[in-house]
Amino acid sequence: MAQGIRGKARAATTSPHIEVRRSEIHGTGVFASREIARGTKVLEYVGEKIGKAEAERRSIAQIERASASGGAAVFVFELNSRYDIDGDVPWNTARFINHSCSPNCEVEIARGRIWIVARRRIRAGEELSYDYGYDFEAFEEHPCRCGSRACAGYIVRTGLRRRLKRVLAENSKPGA
Ligand SMILES: [Zn+2]
Repeated sequence: MAQGIRGKARAATTSPHIEVRRSEIHGTGVFASREIARGTKVLEYVGEKIGKAEAERRSIAQIERASASGGAAVFVFELNSRYDIDGDVPWNTARFINHSCSPNCEVEIARGRIWIVARRRIRAGEELSYDYGYDFEAFEEHPCRCGSRACAGYIVRTGLRRRLKRVLAENSKPGA
């Protein structure tokens, strides 16, 4: 658990809209503690602001760690052309939000801050999710268990899911 702890200890972020508990999708999840209206800024995605070179270095380290542990865990978010946010800090509660192929939240970046925003009305008790937007590369390392009807089986961003289905169909043919 010591890995990923950098900087001073801080209280974990929270919001009146959420509660954190075990998830059926993966590990720990973040859930709506009350009904949330569409467009609500549910929780801020916080972390360390870092330059591009450092972000690159940390992303690679996080990918390597994730492949070793079987988890999906890249926490570096692009903030703007100069800086990224590394959300792999203990006080970033939003790092527990799981990916879904039919997410009820989306990420919005405004004025140097990253927000998890409700993209539709969310009922109390629903697990919060957003599209991790992963590339196609090494998709096999990121199986998805979101359980939605639209689930692609792996965590890749929406625009790549049709291509993923084609590749999976090809691979399942005998002799492939
Ligand atoms: Zn899925």
